[in-house]
Amino acid sequence: MSYARKHLASIEGYVPGEQPTDGAYIKLNTNENPYPPSPRVFEAVKNVTGEQLRKYPDAIWRGLRAKISEVYGVAPEGIFVGNGSDEALSLLIRTFVDPGEKVLYMYPSYVLYETLAAISAVEYEDVELDDNFDLPEDAFERKGKIFFVANPNSPTGKPVPPEAIKRLCESFSGIVVADEAYADFGDSSCVDLLGDYPNLMVLRTFSKSFSLASIRVGFALAPDEIIDALMKTKDSYNVNLLSQVAAEAALDDLGHMRDNVEKIKRTRERLINSLRGMGFDVFPSEANFLLARPPGAAAREVYEQLKERKILVRYFPIRRLDDRLRITVGTDAEIDALLSALGEILKT
Ligand code: PMP
Repeated sequence: MSYARKHLASIEGYVPGEQPTDGAYIKLNTNENPYPPSPRVFEAVKNVTGEQLRKYPDAIWRGLRAKISEVYGVAPEGIFVGNGSDEALSLLIRTFVDPGEKVLYMYPSYVLYETLAAISAVEYEDVELDDNFDLPEDAFERKGKIFFVANPNSPTGKPVPPEAIKRLCESFSGIVVADEAYADFGDSSCVDLLGDYPNLMVLRTFSKSFSLASIRVGFALAPDEIIDALMKTKDSYNVNLLSQVAAEAALDDLGHMRDNVEKIKRTRERLINSLRGMGFDVFPSEANFLLARPPGAAAREVYEQLKERKILVRYFPIRRLDDRLRITVGTDAEIDALLSALGEILKT
């Protein structure tokens, strides 16, 4: 099985015929936002004309780039828009890392970093997080072309302190990619550090806080030279028109996104407290998911039993994670259903 297929196969609900995809499941396994996007997104997509659809989309996403520039305070030349931030991750390796050169990432972290490096035939190495799942001292001595730092990290939900990112930008000779897919659910961001470090890139996505995982839009903020190089290697029309229109409309309604984020944060606190009350060991989380170790019972067993009850959470059968479950923060009703199922499972 190819790496890419293995990656997909590990996420239930994505491989047709192999796993459930219908609405009968409560889906708390891929960190989607449980609330719909802004009504402005629907309006904007509805207003797209035949004339627009007949033509190729804007290859350099002028409208969307201008809007991102306005919201994040970065000049358009310092913005790359991708078909999901996953596309930016993959392009980064293809653009900046030659065979024999090395990609670094934390362990445990987002599994796609390793997958992409492996299929690109470059060297790759992980930086083992310490006992508290924080960056170890050794991280600041490592060498390579790209260092991917998910912040907050997945699957732990723990943030990497801004001081550590700054130190990394100073100690690392290659590009430090602060992957902020979940940053809107937390308290810190590296966007303000961009002017200070020529080797820093911040990666963002519309898939989580903006409730738009289906449209596949992510973007990278970085010094112009880094963005220039990505512009040369990207596909001509890498982001389709409907997605550009939807993303732009979402940025016109930041209030809607922020309200959803606040709701999710409230539910997150309730979920953390309830799980701790049931004896789970839970990290505090700055994301829209959390990592929890069930009391007594093996995590795999709890995961299987939840699945039987039509609730999907994420189980990672890998080192340091196989005693835990990653749970996406859903609606209050979904979390009530999860807690009641867990109550039954832990009783037996
Ligand atoms: N980075 C991290 C840490 C993620 O968890 C994800 C989503 N699973 C992504 C990037 C990719 O997001 P997308 O391609 O949907 O923008």
